[in-house]
Amino acid sequence: MRVGFGYDSHRFEEGRKLFLGGIEIPYEKGLKGHSDADVLIHAIIDALLGAAALGDIGSHFPDTDEKWRGADSTKLLEAVVAEVRDAGWRVGNVDATIICERPKLLPHIAAIRSRLAEILFPDEVDGVSRVSVKGKTNEKMDDVGAGEGIEVHAITLLDNL
Ligand code: MG
Repeated sequence: MRVGFGYDSHRFEEGRKLFLGGIEIPYEKGLKGHSDADVLIHAIIDALLGAAALGDIGSHFPDTDEKWRGADSTKLLEAVVAEVRDAGWRVGNVDATIICERPKLLPHIAAIRSRLAEILFPDEVDGVSRVSVKGKTNEKMDDVGAGEGIEVHAITLLDNL
């Protein structure tokens, strides 16, 4: 078995849509980024790549490459799941914590888990039971606590295929 950890953060920006785990979240701002800035998927990608010792999201999808401008992060996650599988691993589970003051995440957690399960566990009936997504605030501390962006910490376990 292998364990992997991933972290990502993005700053809010006016005039963009907010995506978390492949779900569009209704909010007055989105996240700034070269791709769709899905901070949750980016952290999960780094956890998966970390567990398999396959580098990181920046080396796979450089933000200097026009190819990835506006990229749908669910497609990046699909590619990484396939790469991890090709390296001889299957995803055991994923657990993530999203940190932001707003928007409120609870109403969206079920949809996010379902969408992630479709990508991470396409062949499993109850894949959603292997995906945990929690939301919390930063108790108004620091920049995230001031509502300037979103941070995500994610961990994953890989099993031998
Ligand atoms: Mg990112």
